[in-house]
Amino acid sequence: MLTPARFATAAALLTALAGCASGPGTTTATGAGTSTSTASAATVAAPQSTTAGRTTATGKTEVLWLGQATTRITTPGGKVIVIDPWLTSNPKTPASFKDLKALGKVDLILVTHAHFDHFADVPALAKMNNAPAWGPAGLNDSMVKLGILPAELSPRFGKGGTITPFGPGGPKITAVHAEHSSELTWKDAAGKDTLHTGGEPVGFILEMENGFRIWHMGDTAVFGDMRLIGDMYHPDLVLSPIGGHFVMNPQDAAMAMRDMVKPRYVLPIHYGRRRNCAGRRRNSKPRLAAHPAPRA
Ligand SMILES: [Zn+2]
Repeated sequence: MLTPARFATAAALLTALAGCASGPGTTTATGAGTSTSTASAATVAAPQSTTAGRTTATGKTEVLWLGQATTRITTPGGKVIVIDPWLTSNPKTPASFKDLKALGKVDLILVTHAHFDHFADVPALAKMNNAPAWGPAGLNDSMVKLGILPAELSPRFGKGGTITPFGPGGPKITAVHAEHSSELTWKDAAGKDTLHTGGEPVGFILEMENGFRIWHMGDTAVFGDMRLIGDMYHPDLVLSPIGGHFVMNPQDAAMAMRDMVKPRYVLPIHYGRRRNCAGRRRNSKPRLAAHPAPRA
């Protein structure tokens, strides 16, 4: 288990994002500059909160990144939430997690959008655990109408909505904007790929039982309301895509974190699967140098 230093502090993000590694199997954001195995885990003690409306921290949150956007979060109260599961066919998934059973008990699934690298294992994981897969309303509507999941495992919500699926006192989850698309590809009865409504892509703000807040951005480009979302929710940890091409590149993500969101920790995700990963130290250094380093 890793220490909080294995997350990038906002300052260390400048270094972590300056190079775009060959894949999640080789590196992750580390404040100490050390690399890890493909699965990147960290246990973080939630901060002692003095902000009005937030409870004082007493427990810990475990975050396990499994490549691309797949993340398992274990809350201080022991609830297991899996976001964007893509494991069985993901070439970057650690061998030990190719079997969905390796995730252990899963209480809740979150889906940011319908693209296969976020959705592929949602139906199987939901059925295996009898766990609801919360996602954008349009996507979940399509899942029910196509018979992918029954309605009770495919609850709907949308941007700005907050759910408390474990009841009062449990984790709170809010859907927020992401600048992306969300086409759902599904095979018809003849086995032909067909396109369906995938709803509006989202990110998720997860507030743990002890007040620790995580923003899983999903897939997104930079957008100006990242500042608003940062001001509204004050995320302690942001899981930020950096792979470029379909999402922010490292320079974009560095600017967004430093100038708009200003979290305490950042974990770069969604990079290394394709050769068109945009980030290179030689390209990003001049841009990074043009901005003052943030404070963690
Ligand atoms: Zn993606």
